[in-house]
Amino acid sequence: MSYKLFIPGPVEVSEKTYKAMTTPIVGHRSKDFVKLVDSIMPRLKQLFYTNDPVFLSTSSSWGVMEGAIRNVVKKGVLNCCNGAFSDKWYDVSKRCGKEAGELKFDWGKPVCPEALERELSTNKYDAVTIIHNETSTGTMSDIKALSEVLKKFPDVVSIIDTVSSFSAMPIKKDELGIDVMVTGCQKALAIPPGLSFCSVSEKAMKRAETVEGRGYYFDFLEFKKFFEKSQTPSTPIISMLYALESKLDDIFTEGVENRYARHLANNKLVRDWGYAHGFELFPEEKFGSVTLNCFKNNLNVDLPALLDELKKRFKMVFNGGYGKIKGTTFRISNMGDETPETMKELLDNIDTILPDYIKK
Ligand SMILES: *Cc1c(COP(=O)(O)O)cnc(C)c1O
Repeated sequence: MSYKLFIPGPVEVSEKTYKAMTTPIVGHRSKDFVKLVDSIMPRLKQLFYTNDPVFLSTSSSWGVMEGAIRNVVKKGVLNCCNGAFSDKWYDVSKRCGKEAGELKFDWGKPVCPEALERELSTNKYDAVTIIHNETSTGTMSDIKALSEVLKKFPDVVSIIDTVSSFSAMPIKKDELGIDVMVTGCQKALAIPPGLSFCSVSEKAMKRAETVEGRGYYFDFLEFKKFFEKSQTPSTPIISMLYALESKLDDIFTEGVENRYARHLANNKLVRDWGYAHGFELFPEEKFGSVTLNCFKNNLNVDLPALLDELKKRFKMVFNGGYGKIKGTTFRISNMGDETPETMKELLDNIDTILPDYIKK
């Protein structure tokens, strides 16, 4: 059973990427492995816009999200919560045994820079988590405005999740002053899940050196030690590193600017389609994501039935809403390798069956 994914992760994987994954593996302490990492790293750093190390973690993104908490939080962490993933991060902070505070916004609202400044001014925190693009609600916060606030708090280590925006738009880590930037491979990079990334500043490394209970698997100091040898602390998901190498070839052949423009154009195409049908965007338009559209189900579509039919008849899927907004919203991803043509194909297929599923 194979069908095409237009859900906001994991996303559709190209034949070329699948093929790269079948490259015979090498030993992770061999020269061939070092060569593989050395071929990946300069281009990966370029996508992060950073001179800091980028650690390769064999885990889903949550691994490095939790790892970041365990490495840099001493006094307390402020978790900015405006959707399912960011709400969960607050829970994860507490489960790691950290002092945690929650800066709450309604789902669909961005993280507010003034509120962030007010909360950090309490002096209760030495770390903060922010999700740049809340995938559950298709809401993108203004990372530039937030980073201006963060620059006023040099003792606070910033941890920014760019899981569903990385490589689809420029997020200039060093220029923004982001300390820990985490992302994954199965969203806009369009690689099967299992590999995640974490770029860590000197300031965050210094903090980690003083934090107890970092554990082993996600310890920044371990990662750094092996990073310097173009290796990883334990056996990594080598097949996905081949996939990544192949994907970086794709990205730099297309050109990053062209890639960003393509994501923007595909996103607009879907948004305009939604508007033409009378669907409203769930977040305020100005904060709508560039990698997916989260629409309100204001036309009262029988989403489960429509999704079943779309899958059966056209072998395509999008998402019928996440968490507490399941059923009242739906999400269409435009991440990865999609083109205006492939997006139109999805939308045309939806159009063919949509009238049958609007409940009277
Ligand atoms: C998908 C996603 C995650 C979780 O990623 P996993 O790879 O499933 O651990 C975290 N944050 C955001 C914003 C996401 O979109």
